[in-house]
Amino acid sequence: MTQKRILRLILGDQLNSRHSWFQGLDPKVTYLLMEIRQETDYVKHHIQKVAGFFAAMRSFADWLSDSGHRVQYLRLNDPDNRHNFEDNIRKVIKTKKINRFEYLQPDEYRLDRQLETIASGLPLSSEVTDTEHFICRRNDVKKMFHAKKRFLMESFYRKMRRNHHILMENGKPSGGQWNFDRRNRNRYDGNVPIPPPKVFENDVTPLVRMIENTGVATIGSIQPEHFIWPVNRNQARLLLDEFVTHRLPYFGTYQDAMTTESWSLFHSRLSFALNTKMLHPMEVIHAALRRASGNVKPRVEIEQIEGFVRQILGWREFIRGIYWAQMPDYEKMNYFDHKASLPDYYWTGETRMACMRSAIEQSLTHAYAHHIQRLMITGNFALLAGVDPDKVDRWYLGIYMDAIQWVEIINTRGMSQFADGGIVATKPYISSANYIRKMSNYCDHCFYSHAIKTGDRACPFNSLYWDFLVRHRSKLARNPRIGMMYRTWERMKPDHQLALMEQAQRNRAHLNDL
Ligand code: FAD
Ligand code: SF4
Repeated sequence: MTQKRILRLILGDQLNSRHSWFQGLDPKVTYLLMEIRQETDYVKHHIQKVAGFFAAMRSFADWLSDSGHRVQYLRLNDPDNRHNFEDNIRKVIKTKKINRFEYLQPDEYRLDRQLETIASGLPLSSEVTDTEHFICRRNDVKKMFHAKKRFLMESFYRKMRRNHHILMENGKPSGGQWNFDRRNRNRYDGNVPIPPPKVFENDVTPLVRMIENTGVATIGSIQPEHFIWPVNRNQARLLLDEFVTHRLPYFGTYQDAMTTESWSLFHSRLSFALNTKMLHPMEVIHAALRRASGNVKPRVEIEQIEGFVRQILGWREFIRGIYWAQMPDYEKMNYFDHKASLPDYYWTGETRMACMRSAIEQSLTHAYAHHIQRLMITGNFALLAGVDPDKVDRWYLGIYMDAIQWVEIINTRGMSQFADGGIVATKPYISSANYIRKMSNYCDHCFYSHAIKTGDRACPFNSLYWDFLVRHRSKLARNPRIGMMYRTWERMKPDHQLALMEQAQRNRAHLNDL
């Protein structure tokens, strides 16, 4: 009888040390991880993202070896690295005389299809296994909203709370409400000091040198001797602990606030650790819930905890479900037929608009922006300016530490660009300077004036906002959440309307100069 030799593939975002695969030692199994150009080059990534993924993969491979597992790790500069999954897998199968191939279910559509094709073309048996990471199954959201035009996060979230008994008491939501948004979402007023972001001091210098020497094109900057992101489970747990102790108490209150005083405020910055699966979403939720009881100090108010749980149990799982319900058609959606190029300052931060400058500069420096910066600053501007959603998508997919297509594309094309025509959001998330002024201190440092609508110093968001509504009237006027803005427009004097349209036209013709 031939001896069984199994090859198990682990992708860079499958670093789940608590997976059942790793619970026992099996000498028949070799684990394969690879750094390949296929993955570094499908979009131009932030240097911190490439370094972070590779550092976390290497650390995971070390942990596997130290635990006694057999590991084959292909580095980017290994001479026999073929730089794509198929060739590398076939080569290892040949050299190690493998007779069975196993892999974990990929979260990205392109890899799901690719690995399915590879596995079915191999002359040996193969099996795909769940990553044991998400709370829902891939198709649960699709089934729940079967035959419905819209996917409603709120109904999904309530079902998740009931099904998993989270923040529920006797069948009712804890605190008597499903949602505490009305008490949350304040502007940051400076009353509460913002703790400095919890950062690590990982030295990734050799890794960065290797990435540069192999010619991988990247964006953004990095301090390789002080790499700030968690690269293993221990660090990810430390980040989680720091979050629930110092930031969770104000998470809900300031979740929509933006300030030049801090690039991450009270946000958790856990998305990279979650998306690489170093942390499980349920352990993150339970770490937050433990703060509600008062047994672990400090005790945190329910509105803060609910605001956070909603992001993980609600939004994160929901977005993933929509991805699997809508791909691959979603990638091509462009409801408004937008065609403009992405302005150059998305790559440099060099603009006179203070809000854009701040959000883009911190993205280039830290590979991070929090949700409202992504949605209401850079996303809002791209939508108002009529930028082609393909270009917007590529930017978001490249620049953020946590950007993996399953979560990036639904947030970008759907939530932010409304390119899906309303599958995920009930209205386009657009605003003039009013909202930005209300939720941030950006306007205090700006060349433009938030209060001026036309002229050289007029905030570009103001005229672009009305221009967007006018251009897309046929698609939006009947939307109950935005339709009333057309009545405000009708009440404006015709010469004011004309001046706004002319101002917007000038802005759109000279987007790069703003
Ligand atoms: P926190 O504010 O602390 O929230 C806690 C966690 O909740 C996050 O870590 C994340 O896992 C989850 N979460 C919160 N909002 C969302 C959401 N809308 N969708 C899914 N999960 C959510 N998130 C990504 O992980 N990867 C992306 O590529 C990504 N691209 C985005 C693009 C746009 C245009 C927008 C508007 C949002 C995007 N998001 C993305 C969602 C969200 O902005 C980030 O998850 C969040 O900013 C990460 O920072 P944090 O960990 O500090 O989050
Ligand atoms: Fe942004 Fe306009 Fe405020 Fe300047 S004035 S920070 S461009 S919203």
